[in-house]
Amino acid sequence: MSIQLTSISKRYGTQQAVNNISFSVKKGEIVGFLGPNGAGKSTTMKILTGYIKPTAGAVLVNDIDVVMNPIEAQKQIGYLPEHNPLYLEMYVREYLQFQAGIHKVSKDAVNVVIEKVGLTIEAHKKLNQLSKGYRQRVGIAAAILHNPDVLILDEPTTGLDPNQLVEIRLLIKELGKDKTVL
Ligand code: ADP
Ligand code: MG
Repeated sequence: MSIQLTSISKRYGTQQAVNNISFSVKKGEIVGFLGPNGAGKSTTMKILTGYIKPTAGAVLVNDIDVVMNPIEAQKQIGYLPEHNPLYLEMYVREYLQFQAGIHKVSKDAVNVVIEKVGLTIEAHKKLNQLSKGYRQRVGIAAAILHNPDVLILDEPTTGLDPNQLVEIRLLIKELGKDKTVL
């Protein structure tokens, strides 16, 4: 199993954000994670990526316990957070090289992901000059730099125009050929 959540709950103070959910995702699946606003989707994804700890329950990614061993688990995971935080004053290539440095992967990986997500023609631009769809591609490129097995994408198509929405879905489908995607 690529992802295995068992009886996960999360409370922020008095606010119950996630109440005892369990699910699993098999290797190579692309799974949609749906629910109304405030249902606890982003919180669940933050738990899955080791960004916050659950109040109760267990979470495994590629059989690695995310709570006990977050760094090892995070090597398996690419995460596109909600609102795709980017340093907008940086250039596309510069930003991805910066991210590559954090992940300690070779700078060659930057060219590979730029090509893979279809950013080649925009790679010389500043992030604040890009359309929303191309900014999403940069976020996805950053998420796959270390070639993770599992991709966790939080609302990757929200706010995109219809053309870009179709293109990002196609990209996710393409990436899903050799990765598990939530
Ligand atoms: P979704 O992504 O499904 O819209 P969230 O996981 O963002 O849902 O939020 C679930 C619930 O937890 C909501 O009621 C939200 O207001 C609350 N919540 C989320 N983050 C925090 C936080 N850091 N502190 C307090 N409450 C939070
Ligand atoms: Mg959310």
